[in-house]
Amino acid sequence: MKKYFLAFVAAVASCVSGFAVDQGAAPARVVVLGTGTPSADPERWGPALAVVVNDRAYLIDCGPGVVRRAAAAEKNGIAALKAKELKIVFITHLHSDHTLGYPDLIFSPWVLGRKDALEAYGPHGLKNMTSHIEKAWTEDVRIRRRGLEQANATGYEVKVHEIQAGVVYRDENVTVTAFPVKHGIWKEAYGYKFETRDRKIVISGDTAPTDEVVKACDGCDVLLHEVYNPHGDELNDPHWKEYFRTFHTSPAELGEIARRARPKLLVVYHQVLERLPESDLVEQIKKQYSGNWVSARDLSVY
Ligand SMILES: [Zn+2]
Ligand SMILES: [Zn+2]
Repeated sequence: MKKYFLAFVAAVASCVSGFAVDQGAAPARVVVLGTGTPSADPERWGPALAVVVNDRAYLIDCGPGVVRRAAAAEKNGIAALKAKELKIVFITHLHSDHTLGYPDLIFSPWVLGRKDALEAYGPHGLKNMTSHIEKAWTEDVRIRRRGLEQANATGYEVKVHEIQAGVVYRDENVTVTAFPVKHGIWKEAYGYKFETRDRKIVISGDTAPTDEVVKACDGCDVLLHEVYNPHGDELNDPHWKEYFRTFHTSPAELGEIARRARPKLLVVYHQVLERLPESDLVEQIKKQYSGNWVSARDLSVY
């Protein structure tokens, strides 16, 4: 009896908070599809994440292999990541390691039965990139549509939304807010905040340390943040040293950001960690930050 009463209270509470009542709702989850970087590391595929809420998947970035990584997560039991259900993506910035899977995301789910156009949100320049991809595969689309495959006429289309900072998307599951981050000389690079009925999830994108991440998280449930190895051999070279200082975040800087942002869980991804043992990463983050954190592997779920 008590159990039913608590379920009733939870349903009323969700009504009061303004979200649709969904008594069977599972908590929002983040699936780390790829933790990688431009390195061709077979254990770490291209950067891509999915926030999954009520059986809908919202992708963030589309590094190499994104559709196959989503299929692997589906095999692990996350039905929302079935290829033909991949319908929306939020791109942090247009670096190739974050967008090489974009043609894959446009065409593979269509070939596998998606009828809806892909909705793609991201910085200015995304329309230009999309139209070049569409041109590059014109003949493929013609053959699949006109030939014996009889593919549908809509699922390869892309609705591009070039964004600026602020709320960029809202539906019954989630409100998505973009915030500007500092990624060297990129004019536009964003992090994203996902607010669901039960969780606040913040994704740094690629960035040097910035207060914008601290503001967006502010005690959030999960903060996913990038990191680089400050002792890599490349850093003996002044231009690489300057590159990492202005484009990325060192473990000590990340510790400081996390201490101020106070996430319930820090998830380190997009690890530019060549030859940095994880034990060193632990040591350097711990100097500043005593909260919960984890160094993500591909296909982990938080
Ligand atoms: Zn990157
Ligand atoms: Zn980048």
